Amino acid sequence: MDFQTFDFQPQVAAGITAAGYVTPTPIQAQAIPPVMLGRDVMGLAQTGTGKTAAFALPILHRLMNGKRGHVRALIIAPTRELAEQINVTLGVLGQQTRLRSITVYGGVNINPQIQKLKSGIEIVVACPGRLLDHIGQGTIDVSRVETLVLDEADQMFDMGFFPDIRRILKHLPKQRQTLLFSATMPEEIRRLAHEVLNDPVTVQVGNTAPPVTVSHALYPVEQHLKTPLLLELLHRTDTGSVLVFTRTKHRAKRLGEQLEKAGYRAASLQGNLSQNRRQAALDGFRDGTFQILVATDIAARGIDVSQVSHVVNYDIPDTAEAYVHRIGRTGRAARSGDAFTLVTGDDTAMVRAIERALKSPLERRTVEGFDYSVPAPKKDAEFARPPREPRSRKPGAAESKAPKRPHQQTRQTSKGGGAPTQRADRSRRSH
Ligand code: AMP
Repeated sequence: MDFQTFDFQPQVAAGITAAGYVTPTPIQAQAIPPVMLGRDVMGLAQTGTGKTAAFALPILHRLMNGKRGHVRALIIAPTRELAEQINVTLGVLGQQTRLRSITVYGGVNINPQIQKLKSGIEIVVACPGRLLDHIGQGTIDVSRVETLVLDEADQMFDMGFFPDIRRILKHLPKQRQTLLFSATMPEEIRRLAHEVLNDPVTVQVGNTAPPVTVSHALYPVEQHLKTPLLLELLHRTDTGSVLVFTRTKHRAKRLGEQLEKAGYRAASLQGNLSQNRRQAALDGFRDGTFQILVATDIAARGIDVSQVSHVVNYDIPDTAEAYVHRIGRTGRAARSGDAFTLVTGDDTAMVRAIERALKSPLERRTVEGFDYSVPAPKKDAEFARPPREPRSRKPGAAESKAPKRPHQQTRQTSKGGGAPTQRADRSRRSH
C-alpha cells in the first residue's frame, strides 16, 4: 500500500513527500480511510506508531475544501510537548495547504494566542485548561468545529483532565466528527468513547505489546547503588541518546546533576522548570547537545525522540502501561533500542505485572565486575531510600493541572522476593 491509495488533495500529497513518508504505517493504513469518509474513529495506538499523521492528513484534506478563517479542527492533547509536536507535524504535512494552525496551552502568555486566534485560524492544537480559559473569555469560537481529536486520552484521564474535556464538549457542535486516540482502553476511556463517539470504527495497532526491536533487561540492584550502576552501564554500553526515567521530579533533578558531575552531557526535565528551560532541555536533547535526558513520566510525555537509543528506568514505573509508554520511545521505525530497568526488592510485584503485560519474562542481568556489595551509607542519603510518593503534583508538563493518578498512591512494596542483586546468572528467568 502507498499513500496514493488515499487520493489526498495534491497539496496534502506534497506534504507527505516533504515529510519523507513513503509507506503508510499500520495505524495510518487502517485509520485514514474511515476518517476520510467522515466516520468517528476510536484509535488504539501509542506514540511512535504514526498516529499523528493518521488524523492530521485527513484533517488537512478535508479543510482544503470549504471556508477558511475560523476554527474548523480542534485537537486536544495532554501536554504542551505533544501539542507542539502535533503542530509541527501539521506544519510539515500542511506546508502547501495554506491552512493555519496554532498551539494553545497554559504556562505562557495568553495574549499572543489571542492575537493569533483573532487572525483566523483553521486548526487549533490545545491542552484542556488553557482552551477552557479561551472559551470562557470568548477569545476562541469553537462553535463551527468540524473535527475534534482527543489525543492520548488515557493520559488525559490520568492527568485529571476529563472534567475539563466534558466542559469543552458542551461548547462544540453536536454534529461533528470525533476521533479518539488512546494507547490503552481502561473503563474510563470506554465510557468517554461511548459518550463522544457516534457509531465509531475501531482501529488498533500494537495493543500493549512494545516494539519488537526493543530488547529489555532488568538490572537488580539495591537502592543506594542505582546511580553507580547506571554510570557503569552508561560507561560500558555504546549509547546514542539516552532517556532516563525517575519516579519523582526531585530525583530527576538530582540525578541529572549527578550525571553532569560524572562528565555526561545531561539535562533533566521536570515540572518545576520554566517553559524556557524546558524548551532548552528538549531542544538540547533533540539536537544532541545533551546526550542524556532525565525525566519523570509526566514531564517526558509526548516527547518525539525517535533517535533515542536507550531508555533507562532508573525507577520502575507504576503500571505496566507506563512501562510500555516509556519504552515505546525507543526502537521506533525499526531502530533497535534497549530498555534497561533498575529494580530493587521492592519492585518484585511490578516486575511480575510488566511481564504479564508483555506476555514474556524479562531477562535479569548483572554487570560483571560491578561491586554490588558496597553497603548502604549510614547516613540516610536520599538515593539510598526508595523514592517517596509524590503527594501532590504541581503544574508542570501537565499544563496547569495537578494530575490525579490514584493508582500511583498504592505502590506495591512486596516484601516477598528480594532482588537477586548479587547473582551473576545472566539468563535467570522468573517463570
Ligand atoms: P507519531 O506516532 O505520530 O508520534 O509518529 C512517530 C514518528 O513516525 C514521527 O517521527 C513521524 O514523523 C514518523 N512517521 C509517521 N508516519 C510515517 C510514515 N508513514 N513513514 C515514516 N515515518 C512516519
